[in-house]
Amino acid sequence: MFDWLVVGAGFAGATLAERLATVRGERVLVIDRRDHIAGNAYDEQDAAGILMHRYGPHIFHTNSDAVFEHLSRFTKWRAYEHRVLAKLADGKLVPMPINRTTVNRMNDLSLTTEEEVEAFFNERAEKVDEIRSSEDVVVSRVGRHLYETFFRGYTRKQWGLDPSELDKSVTSRVPTRANTDDRYFTDTHQFMPLDGYTAMFKRMLDHPNITVITGTDYSAIKGKVPYRRTIWTGPVDEFFGFEHGKLPYRSLTFKHETLDQEWYQPCGTVNYPGEEVPFTRISEYKHLTGQVADKTTITTEFPAAEGDPYYPVPRPENAALYKRYEAMADATPDVWFVGRLATYRYYNMDQVVAQALATFRRIEASVPVGAAE
Ligand code: FAD
Repeated sequence: MFDWLVVGAGFAGATLAERLATVRGERVLVIDRRDHIAGNAYDEQDAAGILMHRYGPHIFHTNSDAVFEHLSRFTKWRAYEHRVLAKLADGKLVPMPINRTTVNRMNDLSLTTEEEVEAFFNERAEKVDEIRSSEDVVVSRVGRHLYETFFRGYTRKQWGLDPSELDKSVTSRVPTRANTDDRYFTDTHQFMPLDGYTAMFKRMLDHPNITVITGTDYSAIKGKVPYRRTIWTGPVDEFFGFEHGKLPYRSLTFKHETLDQEWYQPCGTVNYPGEEVPFTRISEYKHLTGQVADKTTITTEFPAAEGDPYYPVPRPENAALYKRYEAMADATPDVWFVGRLATYRYYNMDQVVAQALATFRRIEASVPVGAAE
């Protein structure tokens, strides 16, 4: 008899499995239908020995000391600040998010102060009475030219929807700067796990109370293995047999290539905002990991309507559909729904760890160790 079945060996499942086993001394069975642990953060050495990420580049960044300290139990870190350039149709490479260098390089200007750059934005910003869509957010801040150069095509490719149809939350996550800060993230902690994510997950799950079975779907375990309670980190609609219909996701196809050259591009990620190419970005792992090698591995991301669920589509009708599943989840005893798929939200890794640690505190406060409720 296991005390817990944890469905999914990503950040949500592994964080909870470790806490339940270590702090409460409970017996935990972790399953994942993929043939590996670490969920979407999974990394591995490819045939050329380059450490790469099967599900696209993952960069750890957080403002949470608690999350950083928690994960630091399982890994040493490599300091890494991610930088992104956008390749424009005319071939120019400019910093993304838009900053003073972007404005100067695009327009052959030499603005030197934040005031000058703010004035540049303000002269071009369009007045929008009520900001509703992603298009409104950007056009009201920096005007139509920058919007069309950086956001329109990229968003249409990424989401298969025009920014005018997308919730304002999508582009409000993308800042615009008047200074020359060209870091993609500004969080206080920005690191990569020194030996990679999979090695960190191995340490998290390496506990005598934890049994891990990969390549196994929940449907193969349900009713066959005895356990008292469940941590569910898979899609919430799947748990309820898609009773109210499928929650929509945007997917990606990854093209991984190892090249017989030392470097491919000048930074970790280059975005391709224009619609003249079907992909959104190319990432080169050696920038992230610091690995030294004669060859290099890159991943190109092609947004797709079908495939693995990656990005919940932020539209009001989808939020309403999720609410119906959330109500069912709240009414299901002995099952805890945690992580990006179980709560239908785009979460970064640190947010998932924070959510899992908060769930653990709620379990501690309400569930006696070992006993059935
Ligand atoms: P997952 O990692 O998806 O784990 C859930 C696991 O459950 C999966 O392995 C799945 O196989 C398993 N599962 C589901 N259903 C079942 C079932 N029925 N039976 C058995 N197993 C099941 N975050 C960052 O902080 N920084 C980044 O740079 C970053 N880059 C990203 C890039 C891309 C392309 C994407 C898509 C996401 C990125 N993220 C990034 C987000 C990050 O991937 C997530 O925050 C994190 O993976 C969420 O962890 P999770 O445990 O909730 O989900």
